[in-house]
Amino acid sequence: MPESHASDWDRRKFLSAAGGLAAAGLGSTSAAGQPKAEQRTVELDNPRIGDPISQTAKAQGGTPQVPGPPPKKLGYCIVGLGKFSVGQILPAFKDAEHARPVALVSGDRAKSEAVADAYDISKKKIYSYDNFDAIADDPDIDVVYIILPNALHAEFTIRAFEAGKHVLCEKPMATSIADCERMIGAGKQAGKKLMIAYRVQYEPFNIKAIEWARNEHYGPIQFITSETVIEIGGPNQWRLDKKLSGGGSLMDIGIYSLNAMRYLTGEEPTHINAMMHQDNSDPRFSDVEQSIIFQLKFPSGILANCTSSYSTATFNRYAVAFRDGWLKLDPATNYTGHRFFHGTPEKEEQLFLKHVSHFAAEMDHLAQCIKDNKPVKTPGEEGLKDVKYMQKIYQAAREGKTVTAG
Ligand code: NAD
Repeated sequence: MPESHASDWDRRKFLSAAGGLAAAGLGSTSAAGQPKAEQRTVELDNPRIGDPISQTAKAQGGTPQVPGPPPKKLGYCIVGLGKFSVGQILPAFKDAEHARPVALVSGDRAKSEAVADAYDISKKKIYSYDNFDAIADDPDIDVVYIILPNALHAEFTIRAFEAGKHVLCEKPMATSIADCERMIGAGKQAGKKLMIAYRVQYEPFNIKAIEWARNEHYGPIQFITSETVIEIGGPNQWRLDKKLSGGGSLMDIGIYSLNAMRYLTGEEPTHINAMMHQDNSDPRFSDVEQSIIFQLKFPSGILANCTSSYSTATFNRYAVAFRDGWLKLDPATNYTGHRFFHGTPEKEEQLFLKHVSHFAAEMDHLAQCIKDNKPVKTPGEEGLKDVKYMQKIYQAAREGKTVTAG
């Protein structure tokens, strides 16, 4: 599932929806939901997975070597115990090599104690939003991971920097350009790292798609399409309250399509078109847009067509049309179960890669960059760009005309 709505029930619904899309001929699958690829290619190349002892033994002619001590794990403080942190992030620490959960911040003491018990976190390391700043005196906390409603990202990121910690902040980075700039400034002043949790950029299927897109695997890219759609659920949630969310489906999930267009092309858009719809008869969409369609033009001439919607279906995918062939990821931005198809007029294939926890991969990436003092792949500046473009997308939709993206 791509977002916060990852209950078992939703997951089952998604799987049956994916079968339905397949039957409709989308996503290169047969009516039975199986890939209709004529051939299949397998590329299992994930360096995170392997057996260091046997690999070393092989390299050294069969003499096993005892591996060194495990790397020191940096301590993460999780801020906000909502669906995403409890359902995805905390469980992912078991797959992390360089990160471990050491502290929690929540307004719900009983819930935090239950979570602390589950992850062997000391109850002395449970903080509230009010005494959050006391984390400054906790040397076990290296990184603060902000998993709060979008409008609160700036305040808690800045407070974390003031407490002398590094920050991993959920997407969208913030609800305004000014907040993004304040967050970047606070990180620089503190001399600490700010990374935006663009988990998909740490996910092997997307990494492979980026490699193929940038290397012009089937010739130059001509256009890309992307849809990110999710079943939003009932009206009582912060995502439908503009003060807390900053906007509707675009800020929440359209950002995946936008970011994908940028990471696939490696370019920044020059022009933006958009249309949006806000169904005022549905109380859920009195404050924020339900659906938005946007188009991007890139300097090389690549065109991109993207849709995001809070709908009754859930799917997320993209297709890259090269001059001589194509690739598709469907799903592209799920939590799990990514599939990679590609082909030319003569052939159609599926590429199989190992699935890994990309939540663990992104937390490890930040921890390693801190240890090695290297720049992160998705810094605050990356988050700021998407927030700027989303403001332009809203402007284009409001004004009904093409706007320049810069
Ligand atoms: P959620 O509603 O399930 O959890 C939000 C948490 O914030 C709750 O624990 C809530 O108690 C707390 N909170 C603190 N102050 C609040 C306030 N004033 N109003 C409402 N809640 C408040 O939301 P979520 O789905 O966990 O999303 C949190 C963040 O994570 C969002 O920025 C979202 O975009 C992001 N997210 C990212 C992904 C991803 O795949 N990267 C997936 C889901 C959510």
